[in-house]
Amino acid sequence: MKTIGLIGGMSWQSSIEYYRMINETIRGILGGFHSAKSIMYSVDFAEIEVLQHQKRWNEAADLMIDAAKKIEKGGADFVVICTNTMHKLADPVKDHIQIPLLHIADVTGREIIDRGIKTIGLLGTAFTMEEDFYKERLSRKYGLEVMIPSREDREIVDHVIYHELCRGEVKPISKTRFGGIIKGLADQGAGGVILGCTEIGLLIHQQDSCLPLFDTTVIHAVAAAEFALGLRPIID
Ligand code: GLU
Repeated sequence: MKTIGLIGGMSWQSSIEYYRMINETIRGILGGFHSAKSIMYSVDFAEIEVLQHQKRWNEAADLMIDAAKKIEKGGADFVVICTNTMHKLADPVKDHIQIPLLHIADVTGREIIDRGIKTIGLLGTAFTMEEDFYKERLSRKYGLEVMIPSREDREIVDHVIYHELCRGEVKPISKTRFGGIIKGLADQGAGGVILGCTEIGLLIHQQDSCLPLFDTTVIHAVAAAEFALGLRPIID
């Protein structure tokens, strides 16, 4: 079994889920007392959040690279960045380590095309929904047409992520709002929705949505466990 290297803490509310899902997947496959070999470097999200919102991406990259190097030194065989947003810095991180990186958009894109869906809605932080680093990868590598909500709805989604979910708050009103936003994407032709922020799965579940959901936390965690067991290749 390979050792999984997790860069966590962004936020820790979702890192717990990664840890649980990875171990559940390994136990589900191997049975008995089996669990994942893993190392997590968990950052202080307060530092990261300031750098993100002040657009100090070079400094954020330094922190991510430092975390990845520590994980590599600790003996991990590959790196998993436990957040969609910080995949904005996946390339510089990759350039500074020798071990592979399991990219969250790759495993998600693969799952969507395997389900035969071509037009996909994307919910995530404003960075993930509005910048190119995520959407462009999905369309370039997987031929997906990526739809994002209106500006007003993007503000709601981003606010709920940073002010509620990353602080451990799950509010029924936000669940209802997200359901409405997903309905809006369906009306515009989306065939499914990416929960492109690793905390959204804490709020929204399949029964709350009129469209098939692609929860990046579940997809990424399961892929990490399967890669650790040699059951799937890393996509590059
Ligand atoms: N976990 C979130 C994501 O998947 C947001 C927190 C962050 O900014 O990293 O994008």
